[in-house]
Amino acid sequence: MEGLVVAADSPAGRAAEAINDLTRHLPEPGEPNACPTCAGRFWPCEYFDDAAYRVHTARLRVGDIVPLDLHPRLWSPSAPQDPRAWPSDTDEETDRG
Ligand SMILES: [Zn+2]
Repeated sequence: MEGLVVAADSPAGRAAEAINDLTRHLPEPGEPNACPTCAGRFWPCEYFDDAAYRVHTARLRVGDIVPLDLHPRLWSPSAPQDPRAWPSDTDEETDRG
């Protein structure tokens, strides 16, 4: 994953940083419950959540970065299907009806 060089203040630069953080906090294959970086923490850890949020705000899809094996853990099939796993954009003026 090394070697990607983009301007740090560009959208891609911010996304790359978020992707790096996200990847660092992905569980190892076979140990989907534990974060390898945060010793003793269950996955998804708060750092993963934070990175996932930043990936989302960079207008990328978290699902494109997280291995398919882990999708059911993030988007449980038993949970109501919500297309927006993370809040969309920065809409403060949401229509509350
Ligand atoms: Zn972690």
